[in-house]
Amino acid sequence: MLNEMSTIDFQTLFESAPGLYLILTPELKILTASDSYLQATMTKRESVVGRHIFEVFPDNPGDESADGVSNLRASLYSVLRNRVAHTMAVQKYDIRRPDGTFEVRFWSPMNKPLLNAQQEVKYIIHRVEDVTDFMKIQNEQERKDKIAEDLLVRIGTMEMEIFKRAQEIQQLNSNLEKQVVARSIELIKTEQQFRKSLDSLMEGIQIIDRNWRYVYVNDALALHGKTTKENLIGFTMMERYPGIENTEVFKTMEQCMNDRTPRHFENEFVYPDKTHRWFELSIQPVEQGIFVLSLDITARKEAEEKVNRANRLYAFISQINQQIVHVQDEKTLLKNCCDIAIEFGKFKIAWIGKFSERKNEISLIEQSGIAEKDLPKFTPLKLHSGGPQDIVLKSDSYFVCNDLRQGDEMKNLRDFAKENNIRSCMVLPIVRGGKIVATFNLYAGELDFFKKEEILLMQEVTGDISFAMNIFDRDEQRKEAEKALLNSESNLRTIFENTTSGFLLLDAAFNIVSFNKQISHFAINAFGFDMKVNSNFVEMVLPERKEPFRILLESILRGESMYQEVNYPDPDGIILWYRSTSSRILDRNGEAVGICLTVDNITDRKKAEAELELQNKELIKTNSELDRFVYSVSHDLRSPLTSVLGLVSFIEEESKEKDTLEHAGMIRSRITRLDGFIRNILSYSRNNRMEIVREQIQVEKTIREVIENLRRFNEQNDVVFEVDVDEKTAFFSDAIRMHTVLENLISNSIKYQDPEKQNRWIKIKATTSEKDLKLEVEDNGVGIEEENIGKIFGMFYRVSGKVPGSGLGLYIVKEVVGKLGGTVTCNSVAGKGTSFVVHIKNMVQ
Ligand code: ADP
Repeated sequence: MLNEMSTIDFQTLFESAPGLYLILTPELKILTASDSYLQATMTKRESVVGRHIFEVFPDNPGDESADGVSNLRASLYSVLRNRVAHTMAVQKYDIRRPDGTFEVRFWSPMNKPLLNAQQEVKYIIHRVEDVTDFMKIQNEQERKDKIAEDLLVRIGTMEMEIFKRAQEIQQLNSNLEKQVVARSIELIKTEQQFRKSLDSLMEGIQIIDRNWRYVYVNDALALHGKTTKENLIGFTMMERYPGIENTEVFKTMEQCMNDRTPRHFENEFVYPDKTHRWFELSIQPVEQGIFVLSLDITARKEAEEKVNRANRLYAFISQINQQIVHVQDEKTLLKNCCDIAIEFGKFKIAWIGKFSERKNEISLIEQSGIAEKDLPKFTPLKLHSGGPQDIVLKSDSYFVCNDLRQGDEMKNLRDFAKENNIRSCMVLPIVRGGKIVATFNLYAGELDFFKKEEILLMQEVTGDISFAMNIFDRDEQRKEAEKALLNSESNLRTIFENTTSGFLLLDAAFNIVSFNKQISHFAINAFGFDMKVNSNFVEMVLPERKEPFRILLESILRGESMYQEVNYPDPDGIILWYRSTSSRILDRNGEAVGICLTVDNITDRKKAEAELELQNKELIKTNSELDRFVYSVSHDLRSPLTSVLGLVSFIEEESKEKDTLEHAGMIRSRITRLDGFIRNILSYSRNNRMEIVREQIQVEKTIREVIENLRRFNEQNDVVFEVDVDEKTAFFSDAIRMHTVLENLISNSIKYQDPEKQNRWIKIKATTSEKDLKLEVEDNGVGIEEENIGKIFGMFYRVSGKVPGSGLGLYIVKEVVGKLGGTVTCNSVAGKGTSFVVHIKNMVQ
């Protein structure tokens, strides 16, 4: 329904449209037509719809020149082929009346394709404008125009006539004037003096008649004109200087010639050879025409130009210097430099290019004056060997070309220069960190712009830019360093806040600069005050403590460091210990600028220390008690043993019974072992408890005593003792301890003899020196297995149970030797024998 509605609506809309429309199928059949079209073509819809266009609208058979059908066909085919609209020229396309006769009509048709989604022509909209009426008017106009044209031709002829007459009159006039001029010249000629003075003048003088002929010129003028008087006088200006009539100076002369008022101005004259010179001209109307006084002011102009140029370059420099002072970043500086070059330096183009890493290319980074379309030419620019950039790089200096039409270096720039009216250029190196990194390129509109002075100024500018860039570099480095510092500062801050220590920073006037939360807790706990930045630390303590406190801080500021362990109760009354250290802070010049105070809570450490001390005390007490106990017990035990041994001796002497004697012998052996053990315990205890008693020791005597003593108590008396003592130095030590060492070592040597061996021996060698006593006890006994040698000095360590013993002997030897400031070592080979080497310090003093 909707579809139908819209179709109907569209159709109605189309049909009632004011324009003249036909809708054609690609086969050129009429699909529909607007009412206006039907009306204009005197047709009815039902008689045209579905029919071929040319069947409905054929050519007028009465008009032999009719080409409407073929033109329209060509246009429609063009639309079908090209799928774009085609507008036709005005067509004469007569319309068949209902009665079959034709009516003359002119049309302005336009054919437009309607494309489907596949871009194929679905329909053609043929729109026409009936221009018959306009064409009729046009024809009428043409007729009128024809009459007017004829009239114009006639007027033209008349004008020519008048023109000719005027020319004749003009000629007459000019002849007349010539006579006047000739007369004037005659007049001038007669006045030799005047003429001479004119001729000798610096100023050029010319009198030009109303026909622009040179009537009079002086020598200076001829010189100015780079010619001779003869070449000028009698000729017109146009003859001598073709095209002069188009110049400003001629126009001014012309005005003067016409309005007869004097003129005064400066002018740059271009000679036929294209050279230029400046003249100051003064034009006066005179009877013959005009009188022109000219003064060559080229030198002055050039000087002025030079001054102007210098001024503008100084302005350029001054602006750049201001930029260097104010601009903070390199990019802005370089951009502004280019802009200033254009605005104040009056250059046509300024650009800064940066060399690539390998220096084979240069890329434009900033510019001013280059047209948008030309920018791609600059980025990147390949360096040409012998080109300006290359020259700058290689020569480490600037490059100048004062005439871009000349020189091989500039051949790549020539077209660009011509298009942009650039005549000279300069390329300057921008140096950074001692290396050329970029160039400043300046293109001037003038020829010969870069003279000695300009070059110096430009070098100065570029030097300033390079300098600024190096400062930026340093700034950059400084910023980097500052950033690193900031980072480390923030790191420090983090540590500062998270450490278990309390930190407080004071300035030299003891004001609080900074502190962390640990110290603020301490301050609240210990003193009950809240720390604040900028408040004075001294003012915070109790009034009576202020002065000593200040004195303390002042001494710290002078370089004394402070270490204190203090205790304060916390809010719960628990005693907390703090360690406080302070030191001064020095600045780069070594001036004390403040104090750093740290506070650590050492309560735990203090507690641990106290506990350890307590334990130590207890241990010492226990030890000495034990020692005393062992000592007394040993003594108490020894006396009954001695009595028992006495009784055993008594039995042995008195009894004749074999069994009794055997038992008595067994008792003696066990008692002797027990006594040996108790004596060992006593020696150990004595070694621990008793102070060293220094005395001179007769080494050989002592050795022999010990041997004798042991022989008495031992059954194995067949061992051969060899004693070799060198006692050239008096030996001082503790006699009892010395005795213990000898007794234990020699008794072992006796104990661990090899019963299998025939010649059993013990060699004892002793040498005294200032330094020590070297004692060697060697036997050819059973020896010790290698793996056991390391264990024999251990407490209660015994190798075999065959021979009785306590396993304390060598342990005591080691302890005693240690106490006497010496060492003991053992060398032994199982089955061969054992040797003990003892060093005991000689306590000469
Ligand atoms: P004890 O002699 O009472 O067993 P020691 O501490 O005096 O205890 O000796 C420890 C061990 O070292 C002994 O059991 C023994 O095996 C070994 N030993 C000590 N001296 C010698 C020696 N001269 N020859 C062989 N073995 C020895």
